[in-house]
Amino acid sequence: MRTKEDIRKKYSILTYGCQMNERDTETIAGLLEKSGYVEAASPEEANLIIFNTCSVRTSAENKVYGKLGEIKRLKKARPDLLVGFGGCMAQMEEVRKKLGEGGVVDIIFGTHNLHELPRLVEKAEAGVERPVIDVWPEAGDIVEGLPARRTGGVSAFVNIMFGCNNFCSYCIVPFTRGRERSRKPSDIIDEVKDLVQQGVKEVTLLGQNVNSYGKGLEPETDFASLLELVNEIPGLERIRFTTSHPRDVSERLLSTIASCRKVCEHIHAPLQAGSNRILKAMNRGYTREYYLDLVHKMREIVPGVAVTTDLIVGFPGESDRDFEDTIDMVKRIRFDAAFTFMYSPRSGTKAARLSDQVPLEVKKERLLQLNEIQYNIALEANRRFEGKDVEVLVEGPSKTNPRKLTGRTRTNRIVVFEGKPDLAGRLVMVRVREAKTFTLLGEAVEG
Ligand code: SF4
Repeated sequence: MRTKEDIRKKYSILTYGCQMNERDTETIAGLLEKSGYVEAASPEEANLIIFNTCSVRTSAENKVYGKLGEIKRLKKARPDLLVGFGGCMAQMEEVRKKLGEGGVVDIIFGTHNLHELPRLVEKAEAGVERPVIDVWPEAGDIVEGLPARRTGGVSAFVNIMFGCNNFCSYCIVPFTRGRERSRKPSDIIDEVKDLVQQGVKEVTLLGQNVNSYGKGLEPETDFASLLELVNEIPGLERIRFTTSHPRDVSERLLSTIASCRKVCEHIHAPLQAGSNRILKAMNRGYTREYYLDLVHKMREIVPGVAVTTDLIVGFPGESDRDFEDTIDMVKRIRFDAAFTFMYSPRSGTKAARLSDQVPLEVKKERLLQLNEIQYNIALEANRRFEGKDVEVLVEGPSKTNPRKLTGRTRTNRIVVFEGKPDLAGRLVMVRVREAKTFTLLGEAVEG
């Protein structure tokens, strides 16, 4: 017998890219569920498939185009299947043109008008026009109070601001996400309190550059003040944040991180390159000397802080000497972890127009060399925890080994450990038995 759930329209969302997109997906799901849709077990079962895309790297875009090819076959078999396309790629005119030619996509919406999705879906369902396109070139006022289907269990993402004013020469984000806009502290606090009511113990405050939070608000405020407010929320155990632009990390912010008990000792500050010449070409607004000094201050003011970073190899014009400067910074700073990437040109950015692009083979070689060095450093950093007890917020069963539990330390290290399943959602002490490059292995300490 068919149940009510069987007859309701089903959606499936394919999410690419960063945590901002993961958070947007929660809103998209919330909006669709308010419109009567339920989540499908797989895209094959859905009546509506939404792509929430990322344009930060070519590889992310290629994945999207590959998946669209698969969906095209699905749509051939089921012509009534609706396909929506949103996220950063949808903000780009060339992408919209390309999609118009393919004929798979029924709805195109942008990053600035997520809240309009139900109306666009309704239009597409009515079949009046195809594709239904509504992409705002610029952001309007922040729309508060949108429904969200939270999926993170004990942890949740909370946007504190949108957009970016920095215009790093390789980055498309200021064009796809618009200029910086901060949410009011009271709206953020209300959202966090609401999440705590739902059982959330840890929030990650999200923004492209959280350190410039508060500019333009009336009255103007700053990120340190926001951390102090969130730190006061009863029932919340941990506060994380990302991303920090190194140029905007102040000593006041570091002191606040150190003094607020719930704020975790982890700062993700993308260095991107170690050569001053390349940093200038990237328009990053700091030098290697400034960054070295900053990391020194971080470690001095916030005891035990984990410093993680992003690094790009093969930026246009990067010589062997420039690359050696990056390696030198990695060896000096000894990051707890690093996300490493090969530069890929993003059309519409300044760097994509530079003529001295680095050959792919050279980029691959540099990435391998960088990773080998950084992985050894990360392993050594993790080995310091062997034999020690660390506080872990337990997320649930490990994906790779469901008989074990997983969670993260305050310094954002992933821990896989033996423990009773009912520890899920709790803060527990775990004795570390063995350190790996990306994880710590251990067992819960009976208390
Ligand atoms: S700070 Fe630079 S890299 Fe980060 S989102 Fe803004 S422009 Fe892009």
